[in-house]
Amino acid sequence: MNQIRVTQISADEMATLVNREEHEFADMQQRHFKARAKMSLENDELRASFLGASNFLVGKRKAMFPDEDELAALRDRGEAVRQHTLNQLPDLLEKLENNLTANGIVVHWAETADEACHLIHKILDTNNAKTVVKGKSMVTEEIELNHYLEARGIECLESDMGEYLVQLAKETPSHIIMPAIHKNKQQIARLMHSRAETSDGKGVPYSEDVDDLIGNARAILRDKFMTADAGISGVNMAVANSGTLCLVENEGNGRMTTTAPKLHIAVTGIEKVVEDFSQVPDVVKLLTRSATGQKITTYFNMISGPKKPEEKDGPEQVHLVLVDNGRSRIFNHETLKPTLQCIRCGACMNHCPVYARIGGHAYGSTYPGPIGQVVTPQIGGIDKHGDMLTACSLNGACGEACPVRIPLPKLIRELRAEAVSKDVNYVKPDSVRQVFNAVEGRGTKRTLMESLIWKGWAMAHDTPLLYRLMTGVMTRGRKLLPKKLAPWTNTRSMPQAAAKSLHQLAKERGLADQPERDATSNNGESS
Ligand code: SF4
Repeated sequence: MNQIRVTQISADEMATLVNREEHEFADMQQRHFKARAKMSLENDELRASFLGASNFLVGKRKAMFPDEDELAALRDRGEAVRQHTLNQLPDLLEKLENNLTANGIVVHWAETADEACHLIHKILDTNNAKTVVKGKSMVTEEIELNHYLEARGIECLESDMGEYLVQLAKETPSHIIMPAIHKNKQQIARLMHSRAETSDGKGVPYSEDVDDLIGNARAILRDKFMTADAGISGVNMAVANSGTLCLVENEGNGRMTTTAPKLHIAVTGIEKVVEDFSQVPDVVKLLTRSATGQKITTYFNMISGPKKPEEKDGPEQVHLVLVDNGRSRIFNHETLKPTLQCIRCGACMNHCPVYARIGGHAYGSTYPGPIGQVVTPQIGGIDKHGDMLTACSLNGACGEACPVRIPLPKLIRELRAEAVSKDVNYVKPDSVRQVFNAVEGRGTKRTLMESLIWKGWAMAHDTPLLYRLMTGVMTRGRKLLPKKLAPWTNTRSMPQAAAKSLHQLAKERGLADQPERDATSNNGESS
């Protein structure tokens, strides 16, 4: 039997802490991207949660792909499947609609987020559905379905454990695979004890034991599955040739959501179609191994229609809502089109050093991390979300990790250029501005100070004499360098110059006769 740990603080104090976290989250979401990132960096608990989780997931994924050549071949096949989909997208969608309809699944098309919410509400309303259980679905997060339905008197309960926790906390997911990755065990225990309620209105005892926490949530959710009027789920892949909706999950909540209530509504983006079942295994292999480091998830659901007359279980109606919400625009963009290859595995986030430090909520969007930086400005508008594009050092780790080879760094650069070009015609009506432009470059978002620093840096690296002078001063005067340098050192240490410059080291090792240009072009200098 699990041992239940009782904390030293009272129930009231726990509730106060949970409420404070809710307010901090709400406050953070009102702020500008840079302020959100700063708040995250200053939160030691959050940083520890993200760094620990990212390292854990990266390690698990690595263990799943011990053979580099096998991984490369699998990635080739996964990329080919996704590119095949994009090359045939209009035809495949038509075929999918025909075969789903033949199977008895009703297909709906939604051009915008609002239209999707309206359609789903109409289906629920027609069936007099007042309570909904939801399986995990990022598209429903994207279109903010819960808010829409709750505002119209429909109760929506998230049934994925992570989603359930963020719903209890009145927050949003901070990772596309692990929505509550930002919370540690103690925070979850306090949250469950303060806010979770059984169907007869009782609270749950405080426990930090993982099995207890899951058991308590399971008991609450099981009641809801049995009584909910409708289930709403996502879709990982929709197979055009057979008219089948595929859903991977680990908790069984997806299967309950799609089979227990009489009405099932599946919601997905138009890019999730594949042509044939033969393409499914490679994509599933890549998805589950990259996402959670599992060979296969515990459940793999295939939905090919409502319950047949001779069957005992299953929904009486199945609907599929295919959401565009900006995807057609992405589809028609020559460079940004690969965005739609995404299988939402989350590996790019786990491998991103920026995401691992600032966490998901700092991005202020449903999709955080590298894929969020690519998707969100395209569907939510670059004016509103362009700032998140600065949260990237272009180290390329996301592109290396992506199982379907989406060239994420290239797409981020493309969008950065677009964000900057929005300012191209913005010239302050004075001649001083024109002088600044000459230094900064047209359309730049750099400040004059930044531009001057970079110009100086480039000049020093391009002029051997200046370069030697600079490294000489840096190494000799290293003790004089400040330990703090304004915002740069708020959350990290100021790097100290090495005791010897590269030239000195080369001289000591008898390599000083190299041509001048070779030595100075090495950016790994000691400074
Ligand atoms: S961009 Fe690639 S790595 Fe990131 S979530 Fe999508 S498929 Fe996974």
